[in-house]
Amino acid sequence: MNVAFFGLGVMGSGMASRLLQSGSRLVVWNRTRSRAEPFVAQGARLGASPREAAVGADAIVSMLADDVASRAVWLGADGALAGAAPGTLCIESSTVSPAWCEELARAAAMTGCALLDAPVTGSKAQAASGELRFLVGGAPDALDRARPLFSIMGRETLHLGATGAGARMKLINNFVCGIQAAALAEGVALIEAAGLDRDTAFSVLATGAPGSPLVKAVGPRMIGRDYTVNFALALMHKDLSYSIAEADRAGVALRTAATARELFATAMGRGFGQSDFAAVVEPLRVPSVIHRQEQ
Ligand code: NAP
Repeated sequence: MNVAFFGLGVMGSGMASRLLQSGSRLVVWNRTRSRAEPFVAQGARLGASPREAAVGADAIVSMLADDVASRAVWLGADGALAGAAPGTLCIESSTVSPAWCEELARAAAMTGCALLDAPVTGSKAQAASGELRFLVGGAPDALDRARPLFSIMGRETLHLGATGAGARMKLINNFVCGIQAAALAEGVALIEAAGLDRDTAFSVLATGAPGSPLVKAVGPRMIGRDYTVNFALALMHKDLSYSIAEADRAGVALRTAATARELFATAMGRGFGQSDFAAVVEPLRVPSVIHRQEQ
């Protein structure tokens, strides 16, 4: 398959590597060109623009930050839809709002293309190893055409319903993750402030009822203050914002998500937006306790 791939960040770089390793003919484009160069060295072609990259593609996959980035890459004179031939399979894997997916699907249909919203669960490691889970919204026949690509990049593909259903499921998944991370951050700050042994206290959480996969993975990063990016904190703030807006439309008030979003906003205000989301713990730490630990 000829695949055009847009967005070579933490997730997109792993996904594009999988496609290259599988023998797909890949054209890549990334706003910051230097991030595309390693792919060119491995045999991908560098597109001059999303439009130029989309010409001749059987499928287009994008993995971008948010609605703003997705709109910039798909629409407009230099956007991917301007280059896509009728019949091209369009796959939006970024975590974006359902409303934007619906608008994009209408724009794709006007050029004779089908759009799937196909956000993923899993993080950096699963993107690199092809073990993502795709949550798909859109037409079943388009999904059938996309399955070979999903099976290269993921271990499971779930069809949630019509356009926007994948995006809705992803936002539900992520607001529950965001709340867990916020609660864990408060727990870690309290463990430290109470003077409990951190390793013992964390093992109680991790091996007990609160020990979800997220708690097990993120807790050690909070305790060790390792904020190497797996999932940028600003992206979790975005997901909570999209979740709250989507739930509002459905008549459901996400009060816990709103509180968690405040904690992420505070951390962004302290300069942690581009750190891993584990850094949500930083503003919660009691300064005198940090001082004591550093001595
Ligand atoms: P990332 O490393 O920050 O990469 C974001 C990508 O979007 C980069 O390629 C960036 O280009 C591009 N971009 C941002 N703004 C743009 C704009 N205005 N125009 C064009 N391109 C733009 O993020 P990521 O972790 O790969 O996440 C990508 C998507 O997957 C997000 O929607 C995220 O919520 C979702 N997701 C992430 C994870 C995770 O664990 N990381 C897991 C599941 C889903 P530059 O290189 O030029 O900045």
